[in-house]
Amino acid sequence: MHITVLGTGIVGTCTAAWLQRDGHRITFVSPLPAGEACSFGNAGSLSPSACLPVGLPGMWKQVPGWLRDPDGPLTIRAAYLPVVLPWLVRFLRHSRRDEVVRIATALRGLLAPIFESYAPLLAHANAQHLVRHGGCLYVYSSQQAAARWQWGMNLRRSLGVDLQDVDRDTLEQLEPDLKGRFRFGILAPDNGSTLDPSQLVKALHAQCLADGAQMLQGEAAGFEQQGGRVRAVRLADGRRIECDGVVVAAGAWCAPLARALGLRVPLESQRGYHVTVQSSNLALHHTVMAPEYNLMVNPMAMGLRLAGSVEFAGLAPPPNYRRADVLLAKGQEMFPHLDTSRTTRWMGHRPCLPDSLPVIGRAPALDNAWLAFGHGHVGMCGGATTGREVAHLVAGRTPQVDLAPFRPDRF
Ligand SMILES: Cc1cc2nc3c(=O)[nH]c(=O)nc-3n(C[C@H](O)[C@H](O)[C@H](O)COP(=O)(O)OP(=O)(O)OC[C@H]3O[C@@H](n4cnc5c(N)ncnc54)[C@H](O)[C@@H]3O)c2cc1C
Repeated sequence: MHITVLGTGIVGTCTAAWLQRDGHRITFVSPLPAGEACSFGNAGSLSPSACLPVGLPGMWKQVPGWLRDPDGPLTIRAAYLPVVLPWLVRFLRHSRRDEVVRIATALRGLLAPIFESYAPLLAHANAQHLVRHGGCLYVYSSQQAAARWQWGMNLRRSLGVDLQDVDRDTLEQLEPDLKGRFRFGILAPDNGSTLDPSQLVKALHAQCLADGAQMLQGEAAGFEQQGGRVRAVRLADGRRIECDGVVVAAGAWCAPLARALGLRVPLESQRGYHVTVQSSNLALHHTVMAPEYNLMVNPMAMGLRLAGSVEFAGLAPPPNYRRADVLLAKGQEMFPHLDTSRTTRWMGHRPCLPDSLPVIGRAPALDNAWLAFGHGHVGMCGGATTGREVAHLVAGRTPQVDLAPFRPDRF
């Protein structure tokens, strides 16, 4: 079939790559070049362990304090509060204990095969060097401090995630640069990361083009439908692309496209920030997650990336780089000897649904339209498996992952 894939982030690109393996002809549509939207500047963690939803039991009690703290991990722009409030209420409803267990089980199913579903794509694109299998260290100021996150860690363990307690001496041997602030750690040895998320997407996308895909720079705006099928994609500039099928994988920009296919999805942007310290003088070997600092630290090809923060402000307003400066200040607290003389800052839109699960499946009213978006905080982790599963759906094969929790019409 000739399939039009809307979006050239990690999800659209991996989906196209998997579809090509089945012999489909691909046309990409995206206003931006590959790997330039949210997939550009994320923390690059590839974690089978990242199966917890964002909203955890009891979290709501912390929200007022976070909102009052200008350096806190969460902000909502005042003008946007009335818009996002109904979404936040739904989000908090999904943070009940039983709901969190259900969501984590579903996410674990999607994330456990990360490396198996990336492997053939990376090998084909000769991009294995962009993925590292170094493990992730969760680090804490003390074992008592770590107890605050124990429920979630136990849930991960119950879902088969290998997590190993690490005492202070071992922690300092594993990562001498963590000496001083951190006295307890948990090692997730099966986690990995990418040295450059944008280059990873670009490498996979370039391989798709080499394998015959076409790239059209433009914005999809709607669809021509006939007899329960999409016949063509309409672009905002008036062009139209006739196709035998369409995959909507345009990240945080998918809501109007889904609506045009008959689905209302409560998609919201959780804006996140990074600082990349190009002058970093640290020699970290793992990705480091410091829950007390709400900070993910990843040594990458272009420097040390410090990433995190959640800001609700919608898609349009410009970044507030003070949020990134807060991340840098936290990084300096964690690593007092870090050379921060050269840094870059960035903001990206995480595509988020209130239950922290993506949408993966066929548009119910149409035979040849599939949706793959809403991966929130774990799009790099879930991109390749999502692509593989969409290819199964398109081919009419039985999915390898239980996709029922990701049904597009669940809202
Ligand atoms: C600070 C931060 C840290 C993160 N850390 C991690 C991490 O460590 N690990 C992890 O797994 N995830 C992480 N994430 C989340 C991850 O980056 C996202 O889940 C992922 O990039 C989403 O990929 P995507 O392909 O769905 O969307 P995007 O990468 O945003 O791509 C969307 C694509 O759609 C295109 N588009 C937009 N509008 C249209 C339209 N009308 N028509 C056609 N195309 C359109 C865009 O041009 C773009 O190509 C992080 C995010 C942030 C912000």
